[in-house]
Amino acid sequence: MNLDLFSGSEEGKAQSPSAFDLASEQALQLRKLLHLYAHAYYTLDAPEVPDAEYDRLFKQLQSIEAQFPALLTADSPTQRVGGAVLPEFSTVRHQVPMLSIRTETDTEASGASAFDARIRKELNLPEGASEVAYVAELKFDGLAMSLRYEQGILVQAATRGDGEYGEDVTHNIRTIGQIPLQLLADVPSVLEVRGEVYMRRDDFDALNSRQLLKISEGAKGEKTFVNPRNAAAGAVRQLDSNIAAQRPLSFFAYGLGDVLGWSQGAAPFQSHYDLLQTLKGWGFPVAAQTKCVAGAAGLVDFHAQIAKQRDKLPYDIDGVVYKVNDLGLQEKLGFVTREPRWAVAHKYPAQEELTTVQAIDVQVGRTGKLTPVAKLAPVFVGGVTVTNATLHNEDEARRKDVRVGDTVIVRRAGDVIPEVVSVVLAHRQPDAQIFTMPHICPVCGSAALRDVDEADYRCSGGLFCGAQRKQAFLHFAQRRAVEVDGLGEKLIDQLVDSGVVSTLPDLYKLGLSTLVQLDRMAEKSALNILSALEASKSTTLPRFIYGLGIRHVGEATAKEFARHFGSLDAFMTASLEELLEVSDVGPIVAQSVLAFFAQTHHQEIVAQLRACGLRWEEGAPAERVPKPLSGQTIVLTGTLPSLSRDEAKAMLEEAGAKVASSVSQKTSYVVAGSEAGSKLEKALALGVPVLDEAGLLSLLKGDSNDGT
Ligand code: NAD
Repeated sequence: MNLDLFSGSEEGKAQSPSAFDLASEQALQLRKLLHLYAHAYYTLDAPEVPDAEYDRLFKQLQSIEAQFPALLTADSPTQRVGGAVLPEFSTVRHQVPMLSIRTETDTEASGASAFDARIRKELNLPEGASEVAYVAELKFDGLAMSLRYEQGILVQAATRGDGEYGEDVTHNIRTIGQIPLQLLADVPSVLEVRGEVYMRRDDFDALNSRQLLKISEGAKGEKTFVNPRNAAAGAVRQLDSNIAAQRPLSFFAYGLGDVLGWSQGAAPFQSHYDLLQTLKGWGFPVAAQTKCVAGAAGLVDFHAQIAKQRDKLPYDIDGVVYKVNDLGLQEKLGFVTREPRWAVAHKYPAQEELTTVQAIDVQVGRTGKLTPVAKLAPVFVGGVTVTNATLHNEDEARRKDVRVGDTVIVRRAGDVIPEVVSVVLAHRQPDAQIFTMPHICPVCGSAALRDVDEADYRCSGGLFCGAQRKQAFLHFAQRRAVEVDGLGEKLIDQLVDSGVVSTLPDLYKLGLSTLVQLDRMAEKSALNILSALEASKSTTLPRFIYGLGIRHVGEATAKEFARHFGSLDAFMTASLEELLEVSDVGPIVAQSVLAFFAQTHHQEIVAQLRACGLRWEEGAPAERVPKPLSGQTIVLTGTLPSLSRDEAKAMLEEAGAKVASSVSQKTSYVVAGSEAGSKLEKALALGVPVLDEAGLLSLLKGDSNDGT
């Protein structure tokens, strides 16, 4: 977003009153917006816009203030550090202020050269003077922490707050394993170690998975976190340290605050690099990438080297930090209001950006999985231009409530696929429509089904669907299925991509002249493929059933179906009840088979394959051994002591029973747990036998039971 009341093109022109008025109005609006965003970010730990957007507005305000110094107010975000201290925490006054770091927002190499030139100028170094020595560090994307040790014992941990006053979060910081509670080395009597608390990416992913599970189980007040920094800030500012302890945090040390009582009377180091080595010696984690470099070229090189490693680091960084190494020179350079003069942050392209959703498409994967994908206005994020972001599945799309036309935050960190982090609700159009998942496959029009306990919809047109063609061929031709020797991924890709085959029977219509026209296909190989296709025609019923690629029908289940039904026709026309009679077949598998053959396309493909000459031996159906509870109708009510409702239902269906939701004369049994209500009363009134959990288990074992 650009608050373009006053454009940069005015710069350099005479400051007419109207230009000043415009700038003044714009500065006011920017300050308001930045205050709002800073409050959400620092105080509420709930950022409303990506950092890149905040940085853009911040820079806009800085440039107006530079041009019209009269507009600079003491409360301007450009003059202040961080955010307010929450009243829930006790306040800590920092003896040595915790400042920010000036940002070279342009991510180009010139940022490093500009910093070096400024340092040389401020130190009055003549041309030709030797290079300035710097320490180059990673800029961790977490939150600053001051750890106070007295006589080597951790007595206090405080957030940066507004730089002068922070929050006492000692109770939470003690839960971080990497932070020593006691220093065993000879340390000053008062020692404040400054560093960054952050969350590793794997810990963040695991935390969000746990949160998602809680949400899916209906837990109230739980949410997922937008990024590791936000999750870390939320954990550090928990009132309950038990909650903080469940959100794994890490720490890197990078400096000192208040220090009193060095044992030799003074610090045993004169450079920032040696200070970091000392911290390491005392047991604090210091990033291994930290390096001493010389001059602008050294800085540029470090920035470029770390850019290559950024995606592989186990944690987020948003840039690198350059610090003048000599502590004497640091003192000489001093501070301005908000930041030291001896350090600068040199950023990398943002990993989160704002963009708009132009459409939500549903893509069908090779295995038939339907994935909603947000089509985005192109945006440069994480170093690449992104136009698509996955919404994963129906539940995720609903949870994030992404709608066409929305302004969204997109994240691309590391090698992960870009994703929509959240919607900026303030920008939503009033007529934006809620997204609903289609119930038919957008590629082939077959029914799209979602199994109980599964997050994904899948297209049921496995053999027919254009998106699943290659997968269907590969599955069919594999050794454990119909086995077509030599028909591998590369050949299938060629055959499908060139449009030579589109359904399985097309394979058996291939001729030598078509095959030899394919890439790298000599006549001998083509003849081999043709003879492999010929050989594959003589197969077995289990292999053929498995080769159809019906979801949930693995090799063992295919064998069981073949044994049970004896013929393909009997299998294809079996009813739900008949399918459920097959040993080890439950409702999910049975439904999947039904849905598969309900597609007339599939029946046609099977008929064509037979017409092409595929054959197998058929036999008589196996003797029917009825399942123990076949024909019985059972109603579940109340809460059972150990089995969940779903578990009890699955066990009953497996044993052939029908689980109904209301009690009638026809009900065979009512299984009642605690807090059973009207269904139990009705059962008693109708004289239907009532079982408890133990009774249910013995019924499943085959014991006769008259109820209790
Ligand atoms: P900053 O975070 O850019 O830089 C200063 C901080 O860097 C220090 O306090 C410290 O915590 C950290 N740091 C990491 N590695 C370090 C190292 N090796 N040495 C020293 N310090 C290191 O500046 P800031 O003033 O804290 O905040 C500005 C940042 O916060 C910007 O990135 C801005 O985008 C973001 N922000 C975002 C929003 C939003 O709405 N998204 C709002 C406010 C601020």
